[in-house]
Amino acid sequence: MLHEKLSSIYDNVLRRNPGEIEFHQAVREVLDSIGPVLGKHPEYAESKIIERICEPERQIIFRVPWMDDQGQVQINRGFRVEFNSALGPYKGGLRFHPSVYLGIVKFLGFEQIFKNSLTGLPIGGGKGGSDFDPKGRSDREVMRFCQSFMTELYRHIGEYTDVPAGDTGVGGREIGYLFGQYKRITNRYESGVITGKGLVYGGAQVRTEATGYGCVFFVDEMLKARGTSFDGKRVVVSGSGNVAVYAIEKVEQLGGLVVACSDSSGYVLDEKGIDLELLKQIKQAERGRLDAYAQRRDHATFVSGRSVWEVPGEVALPSATQNEITGEAAAAMVAGGLVAVGEGANMPTTPEGIKVFQEAGIAYGPGKAANAGGVATSALEMQQNASRDSWTFEFSEQRLQEIMHDIHDRCLSTADEYGMPGNYVAGANIDGFRRVADAMLALGLI
Ligand code: NDP
Repeated sequence: MLHEKLSSIYDNVLRRNPGEIEFHQAVREVLDSIGPVLGKHPEYAESKIIERICEPERQIIFRVPWMDDQGQVQINRGFRVEFNSALGPYKGGLRFHPSVYLGIVKFLGFEQIFKNSLTGLPIGGGKGGSDFDPKGRSDREVMRFCQSFMTELYRHIGEYTDVPAGDTGVGGREIGYLFGQYKRITNRYESGVITGKGLVYGGAQVRTEATGYGCVFFVDEMLKARGTSFDGKRVVVSGSGNVAVYAIEKVEQLGGLVVACSDSSGYVLDEKGIDLELLKQIKQAERGRLDAYAQRRDHATFVSGRSVWEVPGEVALPSATQNEITGEAAAAMVAGGLVAVGEGANMPTTPEGIKVFQEAGIAYGPGKAANAGGVATSALEMQQNASRDSWTFEFSEQRLQEIMHDIHDRCLSTADEYGMPGNYVAGANIDGFRRVADAMLALGLI
């Protein structure tokens, strides 16, 4: 049940943003948590902080025309939602996937506000992307698309304004093309305008690994809080992209056994533990499909068209996409011996799934907290760019680990403060919200 004041705010969000179901879901989850905060802080309601947080500061939608390798003109749609800049320049990734529409970009941008706040670093929230599908496109097509996308986006971004990065479908290759076109149009080598850059042109150590590593560090903290660790644990990961691959790498380093991972075609089951080098070769070097993994490794099997969440494991790291864990899948996972969930992806668990995990007493780390290591390391990349410095891998990883430790502890202590011990969802939402709300109050009605 929503707090009475929040219920009318939520009704307004539904009315003003019709059809944007993922955005509604993300707003609802935050509103569900922050009722008790309004009791302690009536000033937030008086200044209509929540109504303001639910309305993006600026939304940009644009046409992206480009030419494919056959000489045909293609048209995609580009988005950038600049959601909240109370804490710093808008910061958040770009997603290239055919499913992208305004509702997805707004859900991601909304989540990003609280996630960025939780990191304790000076970054506001934003997100963008396109319904462009890089899958099956040549490097030249991807380059032409990125150049056209940036030809509009460049006028809206800047190191003190809005700093994009990668997300699904946007990795090192796309960031390079985007930064190259920004540099060309503006005639400025403004490294801090985009993060996730290659190491040879202003990128930071550990940014590539940060979301996956950070998620595993967060789960490690949750396990430690329960007197256990990754050592010997059976782990299931969804996805086999940037987040999933580096989550698998860190789990293996901490002594866990990852037995399955997936892509949108199905999943591989490898009881001896995923061979990371082979996975990287297929997914990163060859940009191939996951069935190739089972073809090259004798005892592994590829299961086509089914959800990886039918594989039992003690730790689950959903790292593919939103709403991949339904209530039914969550119940099966609990029955299969699940102990902890760390969300590498954004909003991968449906509200029904979250309820199942919480009622079963699973250590459940929501994406806002568990995958914040990516954006935190992006903020460290901005810091290094601003000071023309570059840190070592070891130092950067240590900073990431400290940040994840700190986020974990703040989620727990905030949940305790509000009488919901062990509830990382409430802890993350309340702690993230308070900092943004206080900054908005201080800045006046803008
Ligand atoms: P990638 O594009 O590198 O990889 C995505 C992976 O998920 C691929 O294996 C892809 O399979 C799979 N996938 C994507 N969409 C679907 C779908 N609809 N159904 C099934 N599988 C799907 O993206 P990232 O690893 O960067 O991002 C994964 C998640 O992590 C997203 O939710 C993203 O928002 C979140 N995230 C990413 C951060 C980052 O730093 N990159 C930071 C914080 C969160 P296929 O190749 O077959 O499409």
